[in-house]
Amino acid sequence: PLSLLKDPTLLKTDALINGEWLSGSSRFAVTDPATGEHLADVANLGAADAEVAIAAANAAWPAWRAKTAKERSIILRKWFDLIMANQDDLGRIMTAEQGKPLAEAKGEVAYGASFVEWFAEQAKRVNGETLPQFDNNRRLLVLRQPIGVCAAITPWNFPIAMITRKVAPALAAGCTVVIKPAELTPLTALAAAELAIRAGIPAGVLNMITADANNSIAVGKRICASDIVRHISFTGSTEVGRILMAQSAPTVKKMSLELGGNAPFLVFDDADIDSAVEGAFASKYRNAGQTCVCTNRFYVQAGVYDEFVTKFAAKVSTAKVGNGFDADVNQGPLIEEAALQKVERHVQDALGLGARLLCGGQRLTGTGSGQFYAPTVVADATADMLCAREETFGPFAPVFKFTTEQEAIDAANATEFGLASYFYSRDIGRIWRVSEALEYGMVGVNVGILATEHVPFGGVKQSGLGREGSHHGMDDYVEIKYVCMGDI
Ligand code: ADP
Repeated sequence: PLSLLKDPTLLKTDALINGEWLSGSSRFAVTDPATGEHLADVANLGAADAEVAIAAANAAWPAWRAKTAKERSIILRKWFDLIMANQDDLGRIMTAEQGKPLAEAKGEVAYGASFVEWFAEQAKRVNGETLPQFDNNRRLLVLRQPIGVCAAITPWNFPIAMITRKVAPALAAGCTVVIKPAELTPLTALAAAELAIRAGIPAGVLNMITADANNSIAVGKRICASDIVRHISFTGSTEVGRILMAQSAPTVKKMSLELGGNAPFLVFDDADIDSAVEGAFASKYRNAGQTCVCTNRFYVQAGVYDEFVTKFAAKVSTAKVGNGFDADVNQGPLIEEAALQKVERHVQDALGLGARLLCGGQRLTGTGSGQFYAPTVVADATADMLCAREETFGPFAPVFKFTTEQEAIDAANATEFGLASYFYSRDIGRIWRVSEALEYGMVGVNVGILATEHVPFGGVKQSGLGREGSHHGMDDYVEIKYVCMGDI
């Protein structure tokens, strides 16, 4: 699939430090999850390289910070234009290494680019404040200044968007960055870095350290221990988020964390059921269930339960599973064997505890790499099942039954996570009550997809810290400085 790129020079396999591409002393393999085919060997850097990248970012910081907001904005806008001009190639690279269907991959490229466009605009709006004086001889100001060298550690499920969502606001604010992309999807990340260089982002301002799973741990440790790195933005598992937070305590780093979710999707008796079924499918099966905002638990009120599960299972049965490069496929492979095992464990556990299988329920052996799992729906799910507590991160939809609104809210909130939540209702009073009662950073009402670049994306409880996108998305990359001027 990669031989069909319009611009083969986008396929980078070396790491980027201080504007130079480095081959590293060893390499690690990147494979296509749909076929198992070997795609490339990528530079495997370590902790010492991370130190060099951090020093490069630090050295590049004064000149980048000193550019006017408009100068940074123009360069970022150029990066946006180049990403969009290369949308097809970036989508191809992404489908090859990540597996999501090509149309979805190209959609992610546009979504990823939209953060660069948005923050190119926001660069010009990092405004300070003047405050009323407490003494007429004084004047009180608030400056907003770039925080410094920032690190971004990103996951494989959105190989470009999770990078741009962090890097674009950092660069816009006047910070420099060291990025450690996911070891499963470094090729999309490196192509985006190549386009950043072409856009004129100066050497050292954007550095990308590629590393395999082992070296990623060492690189992460070095980043956390560094006095120079002032901020870490991480998207990934809650488990790794906790490790990074603990490792960052000695240097008291600022952190943005976008961690696991356990999204509930509530369908009330007064909902438009056909619309709820569409929203349920979109929310659950995007990226084959491998997003942190994918619904994990469906709660449906008794009066519409049978209708919903019947229609939903019928809809899920129409999903076309296969290689993301094949036309009409809307469900790609899972990213790795461990991901399949987790789905299997959750499905088996649910069936063992009395859930009723409506569709799917097994691996699709004989399809490509064998990393495909049939989209699965079960009814009669209960609170004692693993799927009620843990994020499945795969194409498994358990449907629970509830009677009262309070019961649904309590069940939805009975988790340490609090990222996305969804509900369907046509009752305006209920819409307000439930929106306010859900302990989540994001609530979708009568929609199954809610992310876009100009809204604040993020979680409460153990789903994380900070918000990405929107005008709030700049806050984490800016320090507030109070200046008190006397003798006026
Ligand atoms: P996922 O569950 O999405 O695979 P992970 O949290 O395992 O997410 O990984 C997300 C990112 O965090 C990847 O870039 C991975 O290399 C990196 N990572 C994993 N473990 C560590 C660690 N101990 N320190 C630093 N980075 C890590």
